[in-house]
Amino acid sequence: MKTTPIAFIKSPYKQKFAIPRQPGLVKAAVGEIVFEEAFADPNCLRALEEFSHLWLLFHFHETADKGWSPMVQPPRLGGKEKVGVFASRSTFRPNSIGMSVVENLGWEQQGRGLILRVGSIDLLNNTPIIDIKPYIPYADSIPDANGGYAEEAPERNYKVAMSETAVQQLADLEKVYPGLGELIESILAQDPRPAWRHKSPDEKQYGMNLYDLNIKWRVDEGVIRVISVAQESRES
Ligand code: SAH
Repeated sequence: MKTTPIAFIKSPYKQKFAIPRQPGLVKAAVGEIVFEEAFADPNCLRALEEFSHLWLLFHFHETADKGWSPMVQPPRLGGKEKVGVFASRSTFRPNSIGMSVVENLGWEQQGRGLILRVGSIDLLNNTPIIDIKPYIPYADSIPDANGGYAEEAPERNYKVAMSETAVQQLADLEKVYPGLGELIESILAQDPRPAWRHKSPDEKQYGMNLYDLNIKWRVDEGVIRVISVAQESRES
């Protein structure tokens, strides 16, 4: 069996921390799939615009060399209970293949290159894309299916408050990254902290990277407060 990446994705997510657990949770996360030369042929995408959503199959390249075990502890079960690897969407699996349903935002040619925009992604920057297929509602959506321990979407809707500094920084940065404020808010509303942090009071200051930005935040009486949003080069 041989697989070759057909493309690599450019994503705002520069590190695993803070990436939502599944696609669809943060709609503002938009990525650009940049096709490899051998596949940068618009004929490969003919009729793709008819579909609102697409399946992406991809390589969990960041965790691929970290191995796998038969049992995993999904965050949905508080990171304590164990389930089988094949009963989970863990990134640590024998063939390191991920799959996500994403929004189809259209494609365009850029010079000799070919780019497909996708929304609501949960993929790390530079993830190798193995395949793209249309999402077909009559076959792929089963409304009365049983969702096991992940029956409901994670119910976390933290209030996110921006500091004055963050508001000023965002006003400038939105010119370069339109929708940045909304992206930060919807990621943080999911509370990306590890499960065990949710209960006790938490003094820690967190940092997360999006694009070339470092976002500092903390949790204060159930509100997530964004302290600053700064370009990384300026920080160091
Ligand atoms: N929707 C996919 C992924 C679910 S796991 C599936 O079900 O197969 C979601 C996690 O994958 C995210 O939190 C992110 O941290 C991780 N992830 C995304 N891209 C990755 C990559 N290229 N390598 C390793 N982990 C990745």
